Amino acid sequence: MITDAERKMQFLYTLRSKGVTDARVMQAMEEVDRAPFVTGLFSERAYEDTPLPIACGQTISQPSVVGLMTQALKVSARDKVLEIGTGSGYQAAILAKLARRVYTVDRHRRLVIEAKAIFEAHRLHNITAITSDGSFGVPDQAPFDKIIVTAAAEDPPSPLLAQLKIGGIMVLPVGQSDAVQSLIRVRKSETGLDYDELRSVRFVPLLEGLGKD
Ligand code: SAH
Repeated sequence: MITDAERKMQFLYTLRSKGVTDARVMQAMEEVDRAPFVTGLFSERAYEDTPLPIACGQTISQPSVVGLMTQALKVSARDKVLEIGTGSGYQAAILAKLARRVYTVDRHRRLVIEAKAIFEAHRLHNITAITSDGSFGVPDQAPFDKIIVTAAAEDPPSPLLAQLKIGGIMVLPVGQSDAVQSLIRVRKSETGLDYDELRSVRFVPLLEGLGKD
């Protein structure tokens, strides 16, 4: 019999072996238990390094990809971070351990309500979860030090680029929704935008408008 503690140890070991080496990110991922974010049938697989289905036909991302994206974002304790694609709330919870303030947006009201309940239960008081079409960002809280998008668009949405601070970083998957996408990092400077490609990934698509539930 393998115990929960052993599973968690294995989980952290797998993250490290897949390149999540930043000490602060590892610490945050050790602190945030993935199990509460995975409901029902799949909860016993919470410590596997695999994406899993959640409500509204969406997925909680693969933990090593969450770790690598968080690491690429270089979050500091003073940062105000925007996440597009709350989903289960897992990524937002990890960001909340690293940043001053996290805004997270999903087009499904049900996912936002469920994520809020978990944030509250785990005393993650620096997260604001909002139901809206995240392609437009959150103009009344802009600009953001860091922006992370966890659904794939063909190109970085221009309102998000506009809401990124000079010196800020945005990490997002780009490419056709049903194909392999590239995870890219955009840095904004006085002179413009610099892009670099991190790896290939597969995310659900960034869709327009609000979801039905
Ligand atoms: N970060 C999540 C995984 C997100 S899955 C986690 O840690 O669990 C991608 C999410 O993006 C889905 O929940 C989907 O509803 C949401 N999404 C897709 N298009 C969107 C849009 N235009 N605005 C806001 N959310 C969107």
